[in-house]
This record gives sequence, C-alpha cells and structure tokens, in this order.
Amino acid sequence: MARLANPPYPGFRDSLKLDAPLAVQIQTRPGFFPFSKFSSVPLAITAARQAESDSGGNDAFKRLMIVPNCHVKQLRIRNYTLATGANVQEVDGIDTGDGFVDSSGSVAGNANRRPVVVLAMGAIESARLALVSVGGVPNANQIGANLMVHLRKNVSFTAPLPSGLALSGQELSALLVRCRASLPNGTPFHFHCQITASALPTGSGGGRSDALLFQSVPDLDDVRLFSETAPGEVDVSIRAVGEMLPNLQNNAVTVPLQPADNDEFGIPRASVSVVRSATDLQVMNVMNTVIDAVAQQVFGKQVIAANSPPDGLGTTYHESGTLRIGDDPTRSVANADGRFHYVTNLYAGDASVLPTCGSANPVMNGIALRRRLAKRLVPEGDGIGNPQSGRPIRPFYQPPMPAQPPAQGTVIPLFNGQTLGNWRMAGRGTFHLIDGALQSVPSFDLGLFWCTIPLPQNFRLELEFFTRLFQTNSGVFIRFKNPESTGYYNPAWSAVFIPAMSAAPAGFEIQIDNTGAPDGAAKHRTGAVYAVNYPGDPNPDPAIPPATPGDFVNPQNAQVLAWNQYRIEVQGDVITVNLNGVDTCRYTNPDPNRGRFSLTEPTFVGLQAYSNYTYTTAFRNIRITVL
Ligand SMILES: Cc1cc2nc3c(=O)[nH]c(=O)nc-3n(C[C@H](O)[C@H](O)[C@H](O)COP(=O)(O)OP(=O)(O)OC[C@H]3O[C@@H](n4cnc5c(N)ncnc54)[C@H](O)[C@@H]3O)c2cc1C
Repeated sequence: MARLANPPYPGFRDSLKLDAPLAVQIQTRPGFFPFSKFSSVPLAITAARQAESDSGGNDAFKRLMIVPNCHVKQLRIRNYTLATGANVQEVDGIDTGDGFVDSSGSVAGNANRRPVVVLAMGAIESARLALVSVGGVPNANQIGANLMVHLRKNVSFTAPLPSGLALSGQELSALLVRCRASLPNGTPFHFHCQITASALPTGSGGGRSDALLFQSVPDLDDVRLFSETAPGEVDVSIRAVGEMLPNLQNNAVTVPLQPADNDEFGIPRASVSVVRSATDLQVMNVMNTVIDAVAQQVFGKQVIAANSPPDGLGTTYHESGTLRIGDDPTRSVANADGRFHYVTNLYAGDASVLPTCGSANPVMNGIALRRRLAKRLVPEGDGIGNPQSGRPIRPFYQPPMPAQPPAQGTVIPLFNGQTLGNWRMAGRGTFHLIDGALQSVPSFDLGLFWCTIPLPQNFRLELEFFTRLFQTNSGVFIRFKNPESTGYYNPAWSAVFIPAMSAAPAGFEIQIDNTGAPDGAAKHRTGAVYAVNYPGDPNPDPAIPPATPGDFVNPQNAQVLAWNQYRIEVQGDVITVNLNGVDTCRYTNPDPNRGRFSLTEPTFVGLQAYSNYTYTTAFRNIRITVL
C-alpha cells in the first residue's frame, strides 16, 4: 500500500495491471505435470469441431479450418495504389508445400472484401516469411531486427527445514517475485525470480524442485516418495529471468542470399544472430545480487550466483520482437494492431510483435494481443446494419478529458505527418502513413480512423484531403463518442446517426462525395454536413430534426488528384464548413443527444474509409484550434 501511495516511477500502477502472469490455470495438482502443456492440438481439435458444428456443415461458412501438415513457403503480393499515387502491398496468394492458394478474388462474393493473412509461425519463422515475401517494403530494414530472448540463471540448494514444523507430507510450492531496476545509464529493465521449493527427505539431494514443477512427469515412485517419507530438508531453486533490452545492431533474423542456402522447399533459410551485450551483463549482475540476497535472507543460505553459469541464450524458447509494432513506420514493422505498415492485409499475430520483451514468458502477452487483433479482424456479427450487441462494453482505452480545458487559440496538431501516435482504427479497412499523409484502403464495410485526443467544446478543424476518383466517397467525422465503448458489432458505425438507435454516441460527418450518392441531393455532396435537414430540402428526412432557418448548404466538387482544404468550425450548436475557400454549409444541431460536447465523456475527430475498395483517400495537416 505504501508503494501504491508513493509510486516509484511514472505509470507504476498501470505497469502492475499490464504485467503478464507467468502461469495460467491447469487441471493437474501442483507438482503434477499438465500433459496438455506442450501441445495446442487438443484446443485446436475442440475449436475445429465447434467451427464445424457452427457452419451447419457448409465449409464456406466455417470460421476456422485447420490444414494439417501444410508448410507455408511464401506469400504472393501485388500493389494497391493509394490516393497520392504511392503504393502499399497486398497479399493475394499463399504458396504452400501442398500447392498455391490464390486469394486474389473477392471474398464471399464481395469484391470490396479482401482476405487477411496473419503470420503466427514463431518470431523467427514469421520474420523469415516476411523477409522472403514482402522484403521490398520501405521499412524492410526493420524486419527481423530486434530479436529478443530472455536472460536466465538457475541456482539450486538445499536448506534444513526449521525444527518443530512437524510436517508429515511432502509439499511443493512456488513464489514469483517481480523486480524492476535501472541500468547505470538510467534505463529501466524488468526481471523476476521464480522461487520453487520442495520438501525432501534429509540427505536425498537437491536441485529437483524446479524439475518437479516444470518438467517431470510424476510416476508412482515420485508419488510414493511424497506420501511415505517425512521431510527433513527443503530443496530450493531460484530461477531469475531477465529482460533482454533491444540490441538492434547485433540481434536479428536475416535471410542471407549469398552463398545460397535454401531449405527443402527451395526457400532461403533464416540466419539468427543473438549475443550478450554489455547491457545484458549488467542485467545479469543485478539478478545475481538478488539471487544471493534471497538465498541469504529467506533461506539462510549463502550462495554466489555469479559462480553458476547462465542458461544459454535461446534456451528459454522465448524469441520475440522481430516484427515489432510501433507508431513510426521508419522504426517499426507493424502498427499497433500488428498490421504491416506497408502491406494492407498482412498482420503479425505472435510474439514477434513485441517491441520490448519484459521478463515474463511471451505467451500471455501474445495471447492478449491476439485477442485484441481477433476482435479487430472478426467483429462479432460481421455485418452491415450493426445492431447493438446488448452486452455492456467497457472500452479497452478511454482517453481522459484534460484536467484544464485548453485555452482559446491553442493549436493542437492531430497528425504531424510522421507518426500514427494517437490514432486508432475502428471497423473495416486500413489506413497507412505514406507521403506524410494518412491514406485509406477501404474494405467491404465502414471504417473509422479516429484520433484519441479529446475535442474541446468549440474548435476549428483544418485538414487537407486528396482523392483519385471524381466519385470517391469519404468524409470527416466530428463530435462522436469513443467507438470502442458503444457495443456496436462494427464500432465505426457508432459515429453515424442511425434511426431507432441511440443518438448519443453519434457525431456528424462532413461529406466527401462529388456525386452525392445515392440521389445527388445537396445534403449528400462534398462540403455538406451529411444527411441532415437544410431549409428548402425537397425531401426532408422525418427521422431527424427539421431544418433551422438561416442554415444553408452549398456543395462544391472537391478537386481530384489535388489537395483540397477543409475548414470545419464548431461553435456551440453551429457547424460551418469551408472547402477550398468557399463556404459550403452552415448547420445548427437541434438534437439534444447527438454530437454533444460533454465535460466528462470525450468526443473525437475521425476519418472515413467508405465501403468501396477503390475509394482511397489521403488526409494530412490535421489540426484543431481552440475557439
Ligand atoms: C520446451 C518449452 C517449454 C516452454 N514453456 C513455456 C511456459 O511454461 N510458459 C510459457 O509461457 N511459454 C513457454 N514456452 C514458450 C512458448 O511455447 C512459446 O513462446 C510460444 O509457443 C510461441 O508461440 P507462437 O505462436 O509465436 O509460436 P509457436 O507456438 O511455435 O507456433 C508456431 C506454429 O507455426 C507452425 N509453423 C512454423 N513455420 C511454418 C510454416 N512455414 N508453415 C506452416 N506452419 C508453420 C509451427 O509448426 C507451429 O505450430 C516454452 C517453449 C518450449 C519449447
């Protein structure tokens, strides 16, 4: 409690919440080895059976299929041209040891729907496949870099049990102690001690408690030993596991092409380099000191951990980091979702995405990220229309409102052309940071790329946008609530006003569509606050409030293959829009629920990826000025 009241470093409380556990529930008793530990086959069989029964026997509806003994050799790629003319790559086929899987066609009969590929072959093999398949991307030098493993040391000893305990049965126990320290240069690092202790008959020899907990399959002799012998000593193993800090110069997976060294499928093998750095030695020294102190203070035993050799690098089988995620495409391989920055439908879904490894085994962190990715890729319900699920939803992340509202005149950059920091994707489609702009690859349903910086009450939003086609449909959303908090199947839709649904999460869209689909009406065209009632509308929408006198809509065509300037002002209830210097609308919001500023629940700006694969749109220079 004292630590909580007086945190030793910024973010201490959050770090406690985020630390992955080391163990999960198993179905055997402590000390008895779980037979499912080294195989995911039982889980895979259960999942495959579930998918079969859910599909009603129709393979086309299966959410999961397992293809056994199928070796993936390489991915085939093609180019997708973004709004500014820059390219991203797209996987459109998978070459396997059992033949080629062509995924260039439409999915479920929908040409806007693209297949998605997730690499989860382990940090080394995933990096190899990425290098041999998408090695031409601008940040290819990041692929395979940052290989991390764990630093590990085991020290075992026996200690007499305190007399008078009168134990009659054997016990096995384990304790985890998490630690954080700083290198001499101030860099923080993490390590932990797994302390296992097993009671033993006096003189029967030590060094077994770790094996009993983690490795051995108990047999009848073990059980007899446990049940028949009165314990006299405690057998202790202290295992220290430390974080390997990124060592980009030396630790990497590469695919050298010369001299040629191909595998049995004719694909170049990976070359793995991992060495101990000076930093690793410093971490090891700290761990030695802690092991010595625990042995002395807890068990009254003097040990010198420095005299025991560390485990070999890589013997933890905890490889990670080779496809690390980050907001800056020049310093990472994939974005926060695990999607390759320059490949629109390729994701990494294993421990390769970790930018740092912490000290815990990578599995739990990996599973947490995989669950998050699964939710992004396969929203429950998977459809247009998007009824609310009815389940209470707690947002994964709710940006806090600023303690003090920003002063009038403050300019807040939302996108600076260099990093994806503060931006998150909701719904379908993807956005890529290329040419200093955020550029969309739309998919089969609505997508919303939203900025997590809360909007002030009154503001001027300025941005530029660029399209390739006259009929491109896109838009800019303002004053909607956190899409992750609304319970929609496709969270992007929660920013949109839908009759018969709660208006509270919805905001307003400033339209980009020169054709004004579906009817060419002014309220559907570029420059309009989209689909609201303006004075003089021949077909007003009865589902939304009537027009306010004095409002107007004066749509303009956006320039194609050129940057356009939007200036969107929100003052109280009134939204005004200016496109390329022309006032295109004024709209007064009479709805007490929709698009409302709140001091407690933030509202945001978002960019639309419309449900048409060809409608790529670029946005840049996005900033707000507090009014
Ligand atoms: C002996 C041992 C004990 C461990 N104990 C623990 C522990 O107690 N706790 C813990 O958290 N972690 C433990 N680990 C680590 C943990 O198992 C790994 O970190 C984890 O499995 C990595 O998951 P992954 O999905 O990235 O890769 P993997 O689990 O290795 O899965 C990759 C899959 O991809 C397949 N694959 C690879 N290449 C291809 C290809 N070209 N084509 C098709 N398929 C391919 C592989 O066959 C494999 O099924 C242990 C590891 C080992 C080896």
